Amino acid sequence: MPTINKLLVANRGEIALRIMRTAREMGIQTVAIYSEADRNALHVRYADEAVCVGPAPSSESYLRADVIIDVCKRLNVDAIHPGYGFLSENANFARMVREAGLIFVGPSPESIEVMGNKLAAKAAVANYNIPMVPGTPSAITGRAEAKIISAKIGYPILIKASAGGGGKGMRVVEGEADFDEQMDRAVSEAVSAFGDGSVFIEKYVTSPRHIEIQVLGDQHGNIIHLFERECSIQRRHQKVVEEAPSSILTPEIRDAMGRAAVDVARACGYYGAGTVEFIVNDNLEFYFLEMNTRLQVEHPVTEQITGVDLVKQMIYIAEGKPLTIKQEDLQIKGHAMEVRVYAEDPANNFLPDVGTLDTYVRPQGNGVRVDDGFEQGMAIPIYYDPMIAKLITYGDTREEAIQKMIRAIDEYQISGVQTTLPFCRFVMEHDAFRSGQFDTGFVSNYFTPDKLTPKPDITESTLAAVLAAYLLENNKPKSNEASAQVTTRRSKWKASRMGS
Ligand code: ADP
Ligand code: ADP
Ligand code: MG
Repeated sequence: MPTINKLLVANRGEIALRIMRTAREMGIQTVAIYSEADRNALHVRYADEAVCVGPAPSSESYLRADVIIDVCKRLNVDAIHPGYGFLSENANFARMVREAGLIFVGPSPESIEVMGNKLAAKAAVANYNIPMVPGTPSAITGRAEAKIISAKIGYPILIKASAGGGGKGMRVVEGEADFDEQMDRAVSEAVSAFGDGSVFIEKYVTSPRHIEIQVLGDQHGNIIHLFERECSIQRRHQKVVEEAPSSILTPEIRDAMGRAAVDVARACGYYGAGTVEFIVNDNLEFYFLEMNTRLQVEHPVTEQITGVDLVKQMIYIAEGKPLTIKQEDLQIKGHAMEVRVYAEDPANNFLPDVGTLDTYVRPQGNGVRVDDGFEQGMAIPIYYDPMIAKLITYGDTREEAIQKMIRAIDEYQISGVQTTLPFCRFVMEHDAFRSGQFDTGFVSNYFTPDKLTPKPDITESTLAAVLAAYLLENNKPKSNEASAQVTTRRSKWKASRMGS
């Protein structure tokens, strides 16, 4: 069996660091790659060795498969972990890695190929009795025919890019009158994002929940699932808040979804860590959406509730070791919540707001995990995904995880860019979220920018501290009064925030 002694992480930011941390714990040497925009990035400093692979645009650096493989040969690297995004779901890259005699920490190129195309994926699982959303089984060729099919399925329908990912190339069509316009948009988005304009039609499930199952498979045919993640809080069909477990699944449905996910993985001979995504309707009926053949952004919530380090398992699997975890050994313990801290302005349609992190102070304490790739003073490059960090909390119960999240969000100090944190706080306090009765329409149903209450920014808390020190100094005999004044300030701020 091959052993991985040196691992190159073909990624950047928080996920590169997260992977290297586990590698280090396992005694594996790490190699970072970076673009000219990332010279001072944390993942570069953390790695044992680091190599610049090109200029800032990812097509000239993080996506340069040939350059990356050359680096591996030069530095005697055994294996490549692709993280998520970039080359992680690129079957050709996985093939090149294999042909270069290196280990790809992920599934086979064949599995990536099948699951990377939503239509091919549906065809692959056809024999397994997996529930699927009504829709076209192949790419749309003629519009007249597509309209007939849409009418039969019943509007609203969803036009989706076969090669889609990251919520791109997806358009809702409310009725036949909008069909052509939305179709044009979906195709042009698909062409520009994926270089592949094939689209298909699915019934648009109104008010669904997005619930996905984490799977792990080894190279000996063993496949297990590690329960679900609830990812229904989305903007632009992309997740912002995730949690595990879901508050609506019964043990029976969890079990049924878990078995379906394992079947999906089996259908493509899957090994490595992967995620099978489902949408779930009001009646808790679930439908297969797609499989992501990589480590997922929100994997930490699963790690928190199962105690399994998914990256460690991925590395063992890549080395050819059989899984040592059995399905019956796994149990859900506690509740984990994650919010994605993006450099985006929630008050302005979640548009990216890149810039410099003038202030950047992480929350800490019991039950708080921060996976990030930045430090105070660093700039968020415009070239890549604007995610700054993932903030994860863990508690015995959902309520406790939420309380910890609110506390952690309030401790998080970021200035210089707008972030999704105030939006995430709004979610944590919202009755619909609290009660567990929410779906993927949460943002459009409940959120408007006026619902945001600004976090007390650093200047306000600094002012409060200065004021307190001043009062203490000048009213020494009456120090109670000083602290009373500071308390009033604070509670006033709290009251105004709660009130809106
Ligand atoms: P996840 O599916 O892990 O919950 P996202 O859908 O947000 O997370 O995608 C993770 C990352 O991968 C993001 O940076 C996103 O832009 C990128 N990504 C996802 N799918 C694709 C794809 N098909 N092509 C290019 N980038 C993708
Ligand atoms: P991507 O590859 O971009 O992640 P998905 O198929 O996973 O594409 O869909 C992304 C999101 O879009 C889902 O999480 C869900 O919110 C929404 N969505 C996808 N398909 C449907 C559908 N048929 N009906 C309603 N919402 C859907
Ligand atoms: Mg998806």
